[in-house]
Amino acid sequence: MTEANLDYTPLAEALSAASTIGVVGHVRPDGDALGSMIGLVLSARAAGKDAVASFGEPFVVGDEFGFLDLEALVPPREFPKGLDLAIVCDTSARDRVGSVVGRVESAGTVGVIDHHRTNGDFGDVTIIDSDAAATTQLVYRLLRLLDWPVTPQVATALYTGLVTDTGRFQYSSTTPEVHTIAGELIEAGAVPATVGQSLFEEVPFGYYAVVANVLGRAVLEEEIGLVWSVLYKSDVEAADIPPTATDGLIDLVRMAAEAGVACLLKETAEGVLKGSLRSRGIVDVNAIAGALGGGGHHNAAGFTIEGSPEQAIARVRELLA
Ligand code: 5GP
Ligand code: MN
Repeated sequence: MTEANLDYTPLAEALSAASTIGVVGHVRPDGDALGSMIGLVLSARAAGKDAVASFGEPFVVGDEFGFLDLEALVPPREFPKGLDLAIVCDTSARDRVGSVVGRVESAGTVGVIDHHRTNGDFGDVTIIDSDAAATTQLVYRLLRLLDWPVTPQVATALYTGLVTDTGRFQYSSTTPEVHTIAGELIEAGAVPATVGQSLFEEVPFGYYAVVANVLGRAVLEEEIGLVWSVLYKSDVEAADIPPTATDGLIDLVRMAAEAGVACLLKETAEGVLKGSLRSRGIVDVNAIAGALGGGGHHNAAGFTIEGSPEQAIARVRELLA
């Protein structure tokens, strides 16, 4: 169920009133989650607040995000208890907060800023706009309302969320406002070449073998418009690359023009698979992921499932039919 809350005033007032602020994103944060939490924390600090960001275990940030000001982050065990205000960014459901959830919920007020079709099951003060391209777009609007500083590092963090969640400004969510905000962030000091080179133009050489394995074992089921593949733990171990380096693989798997839906199953532990689903627009993959205990957006969603890849794909096939 989509819960919309487009009134920015309550959360802006909570931020103004708070002295101590913590910001978290979802587990295994992507560019939008990292950009939202780092951008909000750095701006809060520049506005004179005591602010810190974190996310649930595993506390790992990929090398490709090295251009962000990672000093804003502390490990989840160091995320303070009893803050005035804790804000959860870019997180579609409470269970995606992970191991830091107890510390978040010990805050006086819990805020949520999100653009997922979230079930709205958590947070005292929320901004939820599923039409937004990225959570950083919502954070930017909030900072403008507060008139808090957008330093070059804040701008870089917020720009990162826009670039990653719009697939480099080409998904249907890419509105004139997205480009306007991107332009304002560049004026404020974000450097597109720095962000783009690090995120999209550099991989460890070992990644080539992983790509070859995953694309080599891809299966096209043209009659149902599905393309799918599997990434095994052994692929990642043999290539000696960090697991975070595999986040872009789904973007290669989903390129088959014959398929409207793509699925990549990543083995995270023996018998445990993390599924990524992508749609070209007709099929609502959020509904499929939701039926499997996960969630996300209409065109991009995920879930975790136990069993073999064949068993997992059989479930996806059933739900597609
Ligand atoms: P990805 O496939 O890149 O991991 O995730 C795609 C989208 O689905 C993201 O918006 C992500 O937040 C969401 N998502 C991924 N996995 C899960 C999950 O297990 N549960 C929920 N609720 N959302 C997920
Ligand atoms: Mn996002």
